[in-house]
Amino acid sequence: MPATETAATETPKSSPHTIRMHERDNVAIVGNDGGLAAGTVLSSGLTLRERVPQGHKVALVDLPAGAAVLRYGIPIGYAISDIKAGSWVHERLLNMPDARGLTDLPIATVKPPVLPALEGYTFEGYRNADGSVGTRNILAITQTVQCVAGVTDSAVRRIKEELLPRYPNVDDVVALAHGYGCGVAIDAPGAEIPIRTLRNISLNPNFGGEVMVVSLGCEKLQPERLMPPGTIPIADQRAGAEQKLDVVCLQDDAHVGFMSMIESVMRQAEVHLQRLNARVRETVPASELVVGVQCGGSDAFSGVTANPAVGFCTDLLVRAGASVMFSETTEVRDGIDQLTSRATTPEVADAMIREMAWYDAYLTRGAVDRSANTTPGNKKGGLSNIVEKAMGSIVKSGSVPISGVLAPGEKLKTKGLTYTATPASDFICGTLQLAAGMNLHVFTTGRGTPYGLAECPVIKVATRTDLARRWHDLMDVNAGTIADGTATIEQVGWELFHLMLDVASGRKKTWAEQWKLHNSLVLFNPAPVT
Ligand code: CA
Repeated sequence: MPATETAATETPKSSPHTIRMHERDNVAIVGNDGGLAAGTVLSSGLTLRERVPQGHKVALVDLPAGAAVLRYGIPIGYAISDIKAGSWVHERLLNMPDARGLTDLPIATVKPPVLPALEGYTFEGYRNADGSVGTRNILAITQTVQCVAGVTDSAVRRIKEELLPRYPNVDDVVALAHGYGCGVAIDAPGAEIPIRTLRNISLNPNFGGEVMVVSLGCEKLQPERLMPPGTIPIADQRAGAEQKLDVVCLQDDAHVGFMSMIESVMRQAEVHLQRLNARVRETVPASELVVGVQCGGSDAFSGVTANPAVGFCTDLLVRAGASVMFSETTEVRDGIDQLTSRATTPEVADAMIREMAWYDAYLTRGAVDRSANTTPGNKKGGLSNIVEKAMGSIVKSGSVPISGVLAPGEKLKTKGLTYTATPASDFICGTLQLAAGMNLHVFTTGRGTPYGLAECPVIKVATRTDLARRWHDLMDVNAGTIADGTATIEQVGWELFHLMLDVASGRKKTWAEQWKLHNSLVLFNPAPVT
């Protein structure tokens, strides 16, 4: 882990405890629950001039006005006025550095040591006709337009009550509701993003290739445009078999009254339930995992505990031949030089630069920049600005080479580590990673969020022991033990890796699954609405 190999941790938890991420750093963050009082003497002999909250930075040396404040070994800001050693260094004392330009970047310069392959790890998954593997067995009902959401939702309630008990091998029935489909400029530049996102989500490996669509009839996004012929893999392997798109159209003349619509949806759902019920788990290599990593509600510990542990696990997964996606463009933008230098080829680096440039232009069009990302909670948690947040976010990508790049809503076709370009918004990132084919989601949080998805298991990792203790039935892994000094990054990374195999196999449920915590799909639509 490049960002943490020089991490220097002072003395265990009850005594004053600060964490420095890099030997060049001139600030450290306070580890103690509740922070440290003015007058506290650190083991280095430095006395705190004022109270410093947990997760916030303390100046280790005098920082004259204009001096670079270094964390993770890089400038996260410049002192607006003199800051004395022992002071609390918060966002109001710093000017943020400008974003790194997208020219003259180091391209594929880092050749990380080739890590030995990890052999022999398996999980129990559902093998699909197209070769992909599901971790859950779910009937998903695709919708062309928001207009049909109420009817579909009503039908799904009845399917769950009346049909699902007869198909015990099927885990769930999920309506893929969304806000798109009509009232939109469907041919505008950017409109292809929400459309291909919906298409590719319908093909997520957890749904077994059983695509059924509920359409209104008059909407802009017609079923044939959403799922053109040839999109759906042929579930039955007989030569010449063709899979016709299964569409229930509510405006069809055959429908007389609400109940006839519900009956149509239920009748078609049963056809798919029968086929899904015949799916059985089989032992597959860990290389069939398609893992999306992201963070939300981050704090200054995200980049110290949970994200480095996820990064270690990313390396394990790639060594096992699996696919890992990291995303959240505004939260990695400030580390673009780290990313392009880790690209396996100049083409991969160029594709990353192209996605970042597209996003820069998108933000400029809205008269903002990457600094619009940080939240009040981030700042309360000790993150001064997006530069500091990005340095902590990027470590989720581990140290392995970056071998692929996906544009928003595209479907992943390669193994290894892929930069999947998405906004950092938790729901939009999760939605786009589902479209890419994610079958397992890892989510780190410091402030705490009960985030979950109906379509795919979400493993949540807490950055602090205090959060893991209070949210004991919402957090699946406590990476706060790393800051406490009771576990190493490697230990938590391995714990996560083994938990992922158990969750993927259905042997364990995540807390979000236990409580059925399901956030809405939220499409990324950069195009105009009408
Ligand atoms: Ca996020």
